[in-house]
Amino acid sequence: MRVLIVEDEVRLASTLQDLLELNGYTADVCHDGEAGLDNALSAIYDVILLDVMLPKLDGFTVLRRLRAEGNATPVLMLTARSELSDRVEGLDCGADYYLTKPFEPKELLACIRALTRRQPELRNTDVLEYGDLKLIKNSFTLSCGDRSLRLSRKEFDMMELLMLNRELVITKENLLLKIWGYESDAEDNNVEVYVSFLRKKLEHLHSTVKIKTIRMVGYCLEKS
Ligand code: CA
Repeated sequence: MRVLIVEDEVRLASTLQDLLELNGYTADVCHDGEAGLDNALSAIYDVILLDVMLPKLDGFTVLRRLRAEGNATPVLMLTARSELSDRVEGLDCGADYYLTKPFEPKELLACIRALTRRQPELRNTDVLEYGDLKLIKNSFTLSCGDRSLRLSRKEFDMMELLMLNRELVITKENLLLKIWGYESDAEDNNVEVYVSFLRKKLEHLHSTVKIKTIRMVGYCLEKS
């Protein structure tokens, strides 16, 4: 799970990042609203922790713009201000939950768990199907008819993204961000390597599904 922390108090932001990473999350930090919105719009996050008082763009504006772009990532607003009007404004802008500083680490972690459980996304289903393929989440298995194969974690993540997007083209950049994240020094080349692993596996499974290359753009699935 990947969490975006948008918080201008550098110390608090890094405390939050440590707390989340200790608890098995991947966490990225932004210190102002503009960078926060930019990152949030990439749609690679499972939860966003958003402070209200921020330089450049305040948290409410970030949230309003995010929702206006159709991005439904759960947002947990963090603020020192506890007045009722702020809470109402936050919820009106599309916040999923409100936490007043200072808060207990346990409370924050419980909120994050609750918000990610609620996410009604396709990716939470146990089996994804496309053409003659089935991708089984809890065992990292890709199967076709009576043949099946275990995938590595990254192969699984990539196959899942391709299957969720189906015939829609997913860009190399997006695959790179969603699978390797911002901090990693992975390059386009990694995407190509994993696509070639997956193609070999599809062939081995005798699937009619192919990963099609769209030159200069990215990849999509195709079934014959
Ligand atoms: Ca602040």
